[in-house]
Amino acid sequence: MDFASVLARIKEASPKHRLDIGDPDLPPPPEFVEALRRVDDFRYGPAEGLPEFREAVASLFGVEPSEVAAVAGGRHGLAALMWAFRRRRLLTPSPYYPGYFEIAEVFGLRLGLVETDGGWMPSFTERGVYVVNYPNNPTGVVLPRGKVRELVDVAEFVISDEIYRDIVFGEFTSPMELSSSVAVVYSFSKVLSVPGLRVGAVVAPRELIKEVVKFNKATVNVPPTPVQRAIASVADVLPRRRAEVSETYRRRAELAASLLKLEFVRPGGAFYVFPRVGDDVRCFEVVLAAGVSLLPGSLYGDPRYVRLALVEDEERLREAFTAVNKACGGPR
Ligand code: PMP
Repeated sequence: MDFASVLARIKEASPKHRLDIGDPDLPPPPEFVEALRRVDDFRYGPAEGLPEFREAVASLFGVEPSEVAAVAGGRHGLAALMWAFRRRRLLTPSPYYPGYFEIAEVFGLRLGLVETDGGWMPSFTERGVYVVNYPNNPTGVVLPRGKVRELVDVAEFVISDEIYRDIVFGEFTSPMELSSSVAVVYSFSKVLSVPGLRVGAVVAPRELIKEVVKFNKATVNVPPTPVQRAIASVADVLPRRRAEVSETYRRRAELAASLLKLEFVRPGGAFYVFPRVGDDVRCFEVVLAAGVSLLPGSLYGDPRYVRLALVEDEERLREAFTAVNKACGGPR
């Protein structure tokens, strides 16, 4: 089953609980919505992003504004970087975010898979340019610092998809802390619950930022300016927001761990759990008939699992988990 047919099935079934796509349910911060309403300048802006936006992101990351480019969402930043490294060997751990393969396909690129163990820990042994995503979609796992060290030691370069870096339940080490051969893809979609606004940033060495700007010029030219302005004006809400969303999603992950009668590795961040069910499509269909949508693991490279996005409140999740246990639990 491909993504389009899975979504068509979900639409047709119109389930009570939508735990399929990762569309955050928490409302965006009111200060941000207000700031967005106040914007009255809709002109073109620079392809690299507005100066105030680059400054705000630079101070969040502790880098220079020249090491930041605005992009139209994390996916756009990923495309820019995979394009920039199109002549190199690209590698990504499995299970993976399917977006990497969609990007690779339009550029005619090969993306090699790196195997992971039972705790979803990859073995980084091959040289190449790694596309990694921690906290991870679909598993929620975070790499311990030692693994990140192993990664930067073997990688020629790391494209670090840190879309979920603000949703962490414990420690998180960005490869950027351990090496300068790293580009971080950041997005405001998940932390601010605004995936429709399409705004993110690439944080990378200056030479690579030039390539991202080239890619911007060839695609959106100017990443959306009103939203960059709004973000720059309320960047100070981010630390509090980060703490709030992390706590909410951590509690939901705890609830999943206590209620789901399925095996899964405890997430260290993001808002997904990836339990083992044996047959993903069977579980998807049976639980859909019971009013809950989730996504088959084969979309992420492993048909023995399903992905649940924890994007409902705890009361609703309790009800959904009961249905999942009934439909997909039991002997495997
Ligand atoms: N990377 C990962 C791992 C994701 O889960 C997503 C969104 N689901 C993205 C990138 C893209 O996010 P956006 O383009 O909304 O910033």
